[in-house]
Amino acid sequence: MRIAIEGCMHGDLDKVYQTLKRIESQNGTKIDLLLCCGDFQAVRNERDMESLNVPLKYREMKSFWKYYSGREIAPVPTIFIGGNHEASNYLWELYYGGYVAPNIYFLGFGGVIKFGNIRIGGLSGIYNARSYRTGHHERAPYNESTIRSVYHVREYDVLKLMQVEEPIDIFLSHDWPVGITDCGNWKQLARYKPHFEKEIQEKTLGSKAAAQLLEKLRPAYWFSAHLHCKFAAVVQHGEGGPLTKFLALDKCLPRRKFLQVIEIESEPGPYEIQYDVEWLAITRKFNSIFPLTFKNANFGATQLEMEDCRQLVSSRLQERGTKPFEFTPTARPFDPTHSDPNGSFSGCPRNPQTESLLQLLELPYLLDSTPESREGRYSPSAAHSIQRGDFLRLSYALVSCFQANSINRGYIMPKEKSHILILEGFDSVFYTAQFIAVWQLMCFLSPDSETHFTNMQVLLFIIVKIFLLMMWTNQNLKKKLMMWTLEKSNSESHTLACAGSMQRAKEWLTTACKFRNWPK
Ligand SMILES: [Zn+2]
Ligand SMILES: [Zn+2]
Repeated sequence: MRIAIEGCMHGDLDKVYQTLKRIESQNGTKIDLLLCCGDFQAVRNERDMESLNVPLKYREMKSFWKYYSGREIAPVPTIFIGGNHEASNYLWELYYGGYVAPNIYFLGFGGVIKFGNIRIGGLSGIYNARSYRTGHHERAPYNESTIRSVYHVREYDVLKLMQVEEPIDIFLSHDWPVGITDCGNWKQLARYKPHFEKEIQEKTLGSKAAAQLLEKLRPAYWFSAHLHCKFAAVVQHGEGGPLTKFLALDKCLPRRKFLQVIEIESEPGPYEIQYDVEWLAITRKFNSIFPLTFKNANFGATQLEMEDCRQLVSSRLQERGTKPFEFTPTARPFDPTHSDPNGSFSGCPRNPQTESLLQLLELPYLLDSTPESREGRYSPSAAHSIQRGDFLRLSYALVSCFQANSINRGYIMPKEKSHILILEGFDSVFYTAQFIAVWQLMCFLSPDSETHFTNMQVLLFIIVKIFLLMMWTNQNLKKKLMMWTLEKSNSESHTLACAGSMQRAKEWLTTACKFRNWPK
C-alpha cells in the first residue's frame, strides 16, 4: 500500500491533490491513501470561518468548500486529524469521526480507524497544560477564549487512546511528542529553526500527551506537523524493543517539504476506510463519563465491561458492515457568486453521521449539552489566572478613570474588518499609549496560544505600570514611548485601544463611559 503523508493542509486541498497527481504520473504508480496531520481548515462557508482561529490577514476561504459542495472530488481517500487552525464548530459535530466531504474522513478528536488491514490512530489539537484536565466545555459560537481552547488536547481523549491494546501501524498527532527531538538530528533542526533551540534543550518543545501515547502505543510510524518544518527521528522502545519511525512535515508551500510517500506492506485490497472494533468498544465504554463541562471525567465511574462492549460492537458491525456512515452535508456551502458574510450563526446542528454511530453503539447524543456556568467549574488554573479580555477591559476602565478629565470624546471606528476604540484628548494619548506599550509587553511575554494571564503576569503588569507612572513626569520619555506605541499600533493621532469585535469595542466604550459623562 502506497501512502502519502502531508504536514499541515491549511485549506490548500487543490494544491496537495495536484501534487499527488504529478507524483503518480511521474512515477507511474498509484497512491492509495493521503494522511494529513492537521490544520486542515474544513471551512464550508463564511460562518465556519468565525470558528477558525487565524489572524485576520490569513482569513481566506481556500479550497475545502469545493470538495464539500461536490464541485470537486478528492481523488485519493483522505484521512486527517485536527490541528489548531480548524473550523472547530464543524469538527465538533463529528467529534467521534466521520466524513467532512465525500472521500475525506476526519479521525475525530481522538480515534482509530482501519484502512484495508492498516490500523491508523490519531489525536487532534495541540497540547496546553491549562486546558488539559478540563472537559470539552466549548460550544459555538466561540468567544475570544473558547475559540482557542476548543482545539486544546483533553486528558479524556488521551486516556481513551491509552486503552488501545491491539497494535497500531500509524499514529498522527498535530504537535510533536515532546522529547522526540532527542531521537533525531536536533542540531540540524536548531540550525534551520534557531528559535526552537531553547525549547529543545529544556525539553518543552511538543506535546506531553503525544509523548505518553508514543510510549504506550509504539506504532511503526508516527507523523506530525504544526512546527512547519521537516524532521525525522527513530524511537527505540526499550532495549531490543520495537521501533517507531517519526516524521514531521511542513505545510503546503512551493519548495517546502510537505509531502512524503511511503510504502507499507499490507494485504491486497479492497483499500477502504472501516470502523475499528476495539476503538468503538472503547468509545462505548467511556461515553458515559464524556466530560462536557469544565470538570474532567472520573475514569473510575464507568460501569461497562470492555468485553461486553466489544461483543456488542462486533455483532452490530457484523449486521451492518464496517464501512463508516455516509457523508451528509449539514450547512450550505460557500457560494463565490453570492457571498453571505452576515449570516447569523445557527449553532451546531446534529450531524446525521454522529447520530447514526451513537445509535449503532446504543449511546445517547451529548454534543449539544450546555456546559455548566464558569462559576461552578473546577479548574486548577482558573483560580490563578485572569482572562485576557477581562483584563483588557479592567485595565481600560482604570486608564479611563485616571484620565477622565482630559478625554473629550470616545467613539468606535471600523478598521480593516475589526473595530478600534478611539479616545480623543491630548493627555489620554500618553496614558493609553503607555497602556498599549505594557499590553504589548504582556503579549510578548505570554505566547499567542495562551488566553489567560497568570497572577504573576498581572503583578508584573502592575509593577511596570507603577514604574511608568513614576517616570511619567519625564516629558522626553513620555514622547518617545508614545511615538513608539502609536507606530506599533498603526494609528495617526488620538488614542486607540486594541482592535477586536464591534461588541467588544462597545463593551470597553461603555466601561470607559461610566467614568465620564460622554454621550453613548
Ligand atoms: Zn498548527
Ligand atoms: Zn500549520
